[in-house]
Amino acid sequence: MNDATRMIGAGRKIVAEPMAVNAPIVRTSTVLYPDLATMRDHRGRRETGERLFTYGARGTPTAFALEDALCELEQGDRAFLYPSGLAALGALFLAYTEPGDHVAIIDSVYPPVRGLLQSHFNKRGVTCTYFAPDVQSFQEALQLNTRLALVESPGSNTFEVIDLPAFSSIAKARGILLAVDNTWAAGHFYKPLCLGADISLQAITKYVGGYSDLMMGAIVTNEAYYRPLFDFAGAFGICVSPDDCYTGLRGLKSLCARLDVHGRHAIELATWLSGREEVGAVFHPAIESNAGHEFWKRDFTGSSGLFSFALNDGLAGKTDAFVDALELFGIGSSWGGFESLALPVDLKARTGTWRGPSKLIRLHAGQEKSDDLIADLGRAFSSVA
Ligand SMILES: *Cc1c(COP(=O)(O)O)cnc(C)c1O
Repeated sequence: MNDATRMIGAGRKIVAEPMAVNAPIVRTSTVLYPDLATMRDHRGRRETGERLFTYGARGTPTAFALEDALCELEQGDRAFLYPSGLAALGALFLAYTEPGDHVAIIDSVYPPVRGLLQSHFNKRGVTCTYFAPDVQSFQEALQLNTRLALVESPGSNTFEVIDLPAFSSIAKARGILLAVDNTWAAGHFYKPLCLGADISLQAITKYVGGYSDLMMGAIVTNEAYYRPLFDFAGAFGICVSPDDCYTGLRGLKSLCARLDVHGRHAIELATWLSGREEVGAVFHPAIESNAGHEFWKRDFTGSSGLFSFALNDGLAGKTDAFVDALELFGIGSSWGGFESLALPVDLKARTGTWRGPSKLIRLHAGQEKSDDLIADLGRAFSSVA
């Protein structure tokens, strides 16, 4: 069955029949037990890693419904929820690394990860190496104490796609956990856990939320590797509100339908931009010239709404002016909502593996009619010409 079909009933088995079509919002801190023996039994079973409704901070039925739905989407066994996508990335490093460990991180990673490692992990004895998005660079980055590798495919801002099964064989042979940031494909167009990754995470904030009104992150993993995340969430009291979980579940119902539109619009914009003389290059996984296009064709079932392009050399200084000239594209970070967005991207921070132009314009194609979006881009070209 397609995700679009599976997401309709996903998470519903949390309630008994006859059931509401939506999961209930269960707001609580205290969970009441009929007697002490039951309470002790539940607490004991939780020690063994069983997911049970024992306290608000340990997860509510609403959270469990969203976790179940995300496991179905990502084809994993256990899901964990966090207050944001970045918090999920922080949890990944906290749960799976110890002082003395090394982590290998793809150079096209979501940029705030660099700051996170620098400010909170390096000084606690976790070292890291950034590598270019190809198999050979990955192999060269690995050390004897490499514990975890974090990749993103396609990469943030530059959209290189990697040969994930090849990365997975290398990681498995050396006992290294392989985590994939799956935010771009929203768990729908790409199934990292089916391609050999151990951990798939995404910013629910983006496409699952879908309306720019939710902050949340999620990690999905399988039975073999979930325990460090389970223990971390328990020790730190990590939880998300049932209302936010309900919003995430609602987003899942229309995720695939929305992604179809975002994906179509982005391809229409990228194709139109490719034919413009003002444009130097377009970075979109579905475009043949894109780095790793062959892996996108093999491993993905579609593309979402985010891509980037560079103005030609003659207009290189006009990136900011172009973005300011747009009327339908909002200026702002985050993406995955209904609205189109544009943002200048400066690639100075990349550690030297990026060979393309240093200034790009990142576009998120929203739900507006693509003819209107193309007309807006045309107006912006005229204004910077
Ligand atoms: C936005 C984003 C995140 C972080 O999500 P927040 O919910 O905004 O913290 C992580 N990874 C990728 C690839 C993202 O685009």
